[in-house]
Formats: sequence, C-alpha cells, structure tokens
Amino acid sequence: MVDMDKIVSLCKRRGFIFQSSEIYGGLGSAWDYGPLGVEFKNNVKRLWWRDNVHLRDDMVGLDAAITMHPRVWEASGHLASFSDPFTGCADCGRHYRADQMIDAIWNSRWFRAFNKMLDGPAAKKDIQKALENWVQGEGKKLAPNFPQGSLGENIRLPLEGANDPRFLELVRMLAHSSNSNVMGFLCPNCGSGKLSNPKPAGLMLETFLGPVQETATKTYLRPETAQGIFVNFDNVLQASRKKLPFGIAQVGKAFRNEITPGNFTFRTREFEQMEIEYFVNPFDTIDGRPADEVWHDRWVAERFGWYQKYGIRQENIRQRAHEKDELAHYAKSCVDIEYLFPMGWSELEGIANRTDYDLKQHSQYSGKPLEYFDEESKQKIVPYVIEPSAGADRSALAFLVDAYNEEEVRGEKRVVLRFHAELAPIKIAVLPLLKKNAQIVQTAKKLTADLRKRWLTVYDDTASIGRLYRRQDEVGTPFCVTVDVQTVGDDKSAADEKVTIRDRNTMEQVRVSMSSLESMMDKLMAGKWAEVAQEHGIKTD
Ligand SMILES: [Zn+2]
Repeated sequence: MVDMDKIVSLCKRRGFIFQSSEIYGGLGSAWDYGPLGVEFKNNVKRLWWRDNVHLRDDMVGLDAAITMHPRVWEASGHLASFSDPFTGCADCGRHYRADQMIDAIWNSRWFRAFNKMLDGPAAKKDIQKALENWVQGEGKKLAPNFPQGSLGENIRLPLEGANDPRFLELVRMLAHSSNSNVMGFLCPNCGSGKLSNPKPAGLMLETFLGPVQETATKTYLRPETAQGIFVNFDNVLQASRKKLPFGIAQVGKAFRNEITPGNFTFRTREFEQMEIEYFVNPFDTIDGRPADEVWHDRWVAERFGWYQKYGIRQENIRQRAHEKDELAHYAKSCVDIEYLFPMGWSELEGIANRTDYDLKQHSQYSGKPLEYFDEESKQKIVPYVIEPSAGADRSALAFLVDAYNEEEVRGEKRVVLRFHAELAPIKIAVLPLLKKNAQIVQTAKKLTADLRKRWLTVYDDTASIGRLYRRQDEVGTPFCVTVDVQTVGDDKSAADEKVTIRDRNTMEQVRVSMSSLESMMDKLMAGKWAEVAQEHGIKTD
C-alpha cells in the first residue's frame, strides 16, 4: 500500500491537487483541484451520473441551492443534534474528535517514539529508568506536557496496535498520574493528560443572507445535499410523473465544521457529495420480503460493484453493516462501503434505509404533505427512502490510491497510475519522435486536433520519447500515439501513413494506419488492448 505522502506529492507535482491558498501559507484542510485534477474528478462525477441516472429509467437528477431555508435544518434534526463530541487539551489548546482519540494517540509522533523506547534494550533492563530518561530527553521535545508518571511493574509488551487492550491500559495508567485528567487520554500533540470531558460541537457553517448582518437572515451552508432532494420531493414527483420505486440523484458541495479534518482530501470542511434518495413503497413486497429491504440490498450491491467496475481492487474494498447501536434512531439499517486507504479501512460510502423519517419531518415542519398517491390501493403513502451517499473527493482519492503503482523497468523506477480509461484525465498523448522534422510535427498536430473531438488528447514534444512516455504513465494516460519518419516518409522511402500506439499498462506497442486510428481507439478505450495487439503484432518500449 502506497503511503499518503507519495500521493500528496504526485498530486502537487503533476497538477492534480494543490493546497488551498498556498501562497498565503495554506488554509487547513481545503484543497484545490488543478488542471488534471479537475478533469479526473469530473470523470468520477460524470461516470456516477451516467451509471446512476442516464442508464436507468427509475432515476432523475436535481441540482438544489447550497443555502436553504433555516427551518430545513430544524426539520432535518441537524440544528439539534448535528454534533460530534470533541475534547480539548488544556495545555496546548488542540481539539480532537472524542471517538478518534485512541487512533490519534497511537499515530502521534510522540507515541511512535515512545513505543520504540518501550521496545528497546534500555526498557528491557529497567523500564522505570528508561521512561525517566525518555521524558527528560526525546520526550521533552516531542511531548513537552507528558505527565510525570510511573509505568508500574506489570506492563506487558510489545503493543500490537491501537486496538490492543494493553495500549489503552498503558495510556490510562499514564494519564491518571496527572491529577486534573478527566478523560484518561493523552494529547496526541503535546502528551498532556489534561483533556476536557467530551462536549458536542456545532458542525454546521453559519452564514448570513442579505447585505447587512444585523437584518440579514442567518442560515447555514448545507451539511449534506440530501435535504435539497427531500424538500423537492413533491415538485419532482409532479413534474416527472414517476411511479414508485424511483430515485432522485444530486451531486454538489456540502460543508461541515469538522473538528479533526485530515488525511488529505479524505475529511475536509468543504467537500462534494454524490447522493441518491431512492423512494420505495414500504407496503410492497418483493419475493415475500419488504420492498425497502430488498432495494437496500440491491443498492448496496450496485454501489459496491460500481467502484470495482472502475478499477478498485477487490481486496481493498469491503462492506460493513452497522450494529444496532450505531444506527440513527430513525434508520432501519445501514451498510458502509469501506476502502483500505493508506491510514486504514475508512468509509467510502454509506447506504442507509432512512424509512419515512425525512419526508414526515418536512411534512410536519412545512405543513405541506409529502406523500405519494398509490393508484392500486387508492391510498396516500409516505415512501421509505434508501440513501446511497458517496463522496466525490473520497471516491477520487480511492481511485487514485488504487491506481498508484511503482515498478522497476530495466533498472529504472516507473511510476504509473493504472486508471480505468474512463477515469484517466488525459486519454491520448500524441508525441512526435523528432520535433525538428516539420512534417512529423504537422502530422502529429493534425492527429491531435482530430482525436480531440472524441477524447481529451494532448500534444507534447518537450522531451525525449522515453521521458514523454514516463510523464504520461505518471498521470495515467492510457495510450500514447507516436508519429515518426516512416509515418511521413523521407527521400529514401515513401510514407507508410502508420503510427505507433503504445499501451500504458503493458508498455506494448502496435503500428496501425492513421486512417483506422479512430476506430482502433474505440476498441482500446473499451479495454480491448490484448485483442488489438494480437491482430497487429507487438513490441515493447
Ligand atoms: Zn496538548
């Protein structure tokens, strides 16, 4: 598994993702998608939309405003309960999500050093002495507020990880040796044991609509796109005349004042969601089971398959059903799709059965019934809703991490993003073998202009062919097309009007006539390299 630093560095170097406001020192946890990043992320969103809206006849789209009536957030419950408990360090002032403390301590710089010391020869001889030396030496720099504690005789080593009960025991033991401690945790930043009891934090970003703050309406930047769909349920139903079951899809920005954003674009305060609300008649049955349960299963399978269709490897993705005590009080069930990110298994998408809670809440708060008239039973019903809720940024990050590959080719390192062709920001690079030959350059530029009408194609003549191939490998361009002397001919031989296509994954090459290039590309983009290579004979670069 690649580490996140490599991904961050590649993203910056090649123009996928930059830190926001970098020339001003950067804004924490906000990221800007660069020239290749915007193409790549747009591809993620386009494929999601195509597969979930255009290719189905039970789905329609919506694009609701980011700012909504403040009452929306009373009805949705966000104003009352949208808060993650957090804890603050009395010594250094940092704040942490209370439910993420254990991992944060285990992964902190000071604890990694501390754990190394515990495992070292000095600790094996005299653990108390080693601890004192560490606190006075390395620990002074890394964890200046580390409590003066004792480790006791019965500490059992080595520690296996953040989930090892011995780890928790050790942290508690050290923390409780500083008297004012209430949490039994140590600050991941400064080592202090003075952490406050968890309290809820308001996670919605406030804003004011109107020119003068005193008279303007206070509202919020939406913390999820879902509510825009619920409040438009009747509008969409009346306009589209859809019959149950049907769904509404939306892609858009959402905002949450996360206490502990981080892990690159995984958790940020501004992010983009790809959400579906799929409405089902809860009184229907399919094969003897309630229709909402069947549709929940279907959406889990559908969404799980979607990531794999575009390249996520099977071993890096899994499903996790929520335990009863994890579920929101109105939810009937929820399944997370998790991806093995560099920081460990983390949520990629949640698919929840939210019952009729949202439509009922909005009916009650707005006074406008949000119902469906069932022709068959002649009754008004409030549909249940299945909500597959994915993150565009998280999906993009997972596709990037999964595509990243380092390999050795003839003694040199090759970095290659093995993107699915539909996800790759650039589809084709046209490369002239000799940039001083006017005919080659002219032909290559003409090819670029032609191919561009169908696929995002770039022309590059700024380095030797070997370097140009590596550059395209590093940004995941599936195919390079080279134009050489044989293509255009010279005084010794006539033009053969053929070009070389080179495949990113295998580095194999085939030579095809320019007139058949477009139909060839159609095949290649559909993943038929092996077939084409067999027909035309291959060599490798
Ligand atoms: Zn601290």
